[in-house]
Amino acid sequence: MIKIIKGAKVYSPEYKGVKDVLVMGDKIWAVEDSISIDSNSNIEMVVISGKNKILTPGFIDSHVHITGGGGEGGFKTRIPEIMLSDITTGGITTLVGVLGTDGVTRNLLSLLAKARGLEEEGITTFIYSGSYRIPVISITGNGMRDIIIVDKVIGVGEIAISDHRSSQPTVQELKRVTADARVGGILSDKAGIVNLHLGDGKSVLNMVFEIVESTEIPYSQFLPTHLNRNSYLFEDAIKYGKAGGFIDFTTSYDPSENKIGGIKASKALKKSLDAGVPLERITYSSDGQGSLPVFNEKEEFVGLSVGKVASLFKEVKDAILEEKVPIEKVITVVTSNPASRLKLKNKGRIAKDFDADLVLLDENSLDIDTVIAKGRIMVQNKEIKVRGMFE
Ligand code: ZN
Repeated sequence: MIKIIKGAKVYSPEYKGVKDVLVMGDKIWAVEDSISIDSNSNIEMVVISGKNKILTPGFIDSHVHITGGGGEGGFKTRIPEIMLSDITTGGITTLVGVLGTDGVTRNLLSLLAKARGLEEEGITTFIYSGSYRIPVISITGNGMRDIIIVDKVIGVGEIAISDHRSSQPTVQELKRVTADARVGGILSDKAGIVNLHLGDGKSVLNMVFEIVESTEIPYSQFLPTHLNRNSYLFEDAIKYGKAGGFIDFTTSYDPSENKIGGIKASKALKKSLDAGVPLERITYSSDGQGSLPVFNEKEEFVGLSVGKVASLFKEVKDAILEEKVPIEKVITVVTSNPASRLKLKNKGRIAKDFDADLVLLDENSLDIDTVIAKGRIMVQNKEIKVRGMFE
């Protein structure tokens, strides 16, 4: 089966001009000025009009609680599992599943099973080994073995630091976990990344700075997230990004939509670029299906809302339309940047031989029109074409 997307403005994420894109099976076969196939041939062919549309790579979300996060207000506040169309309607074609606060009633085998289920339904999925806690929970005995042996495990996380819900790990403990993830990644040719959950603690990123300064472990081993959750952490993130670290902003934080505050990811992106953080060090993730618990000043639970994966693209759009960051720059934070951070070699670009993960946007409204994952049309003309098993 062949698909041709004709005459779209292609952002690969760099702007390539108006092009035709040929998709064969699950791969991008060609990106040319004009592609035509003999209509008398027997090849089954679908032509998708790209007129007045923008074509971007499918989005990559490196932090999604696919089995549901939360539970901070007792068992009834455990958030349910995510559904396929929640993901695809948000333009997301690749994600990394994470556990979170609760590594007891939720475990890595169910996370792995859910990731496999979503893959069977049509998108690309990976997971991190571990939860908030050190010592890390694992499938095979430790995080390093998981990375080496389990195909879907590409790193460890989300390990919580600077948070009242963390296991209060010492620098030495975090060093050891990171060293294991690093060696696991080296031996299996995976990222071996350590995804760090940052809370509202005043020690911000100090532990990570200390590890990089006192060992041979490079900044690139860490992907700290939620760095826009408050202003003092955000200030530290800018310092960290300029020093060489990768910084990830959570798109679920929107002071106008939930009570937890923080700086909108779109604003955080603009401010970081203005402060001199190199664009290639910045990514977005949604924290989708995670809890956004509200605690009072005594750290008592007072309420909870659910993070939405759709926020990933909302903050892309707001960065373009409200913050006036050029589209080809903004797109990188959900495509080529996370692909290189997570070492996903066939993802995050529109180019020959890359996976056919594509998103068509209306040129004017920037609304998501069509989403293709591994060559399959998941959403078309804003209509869901493929639903998950229980949707
Ligand atoms: Zn988190």
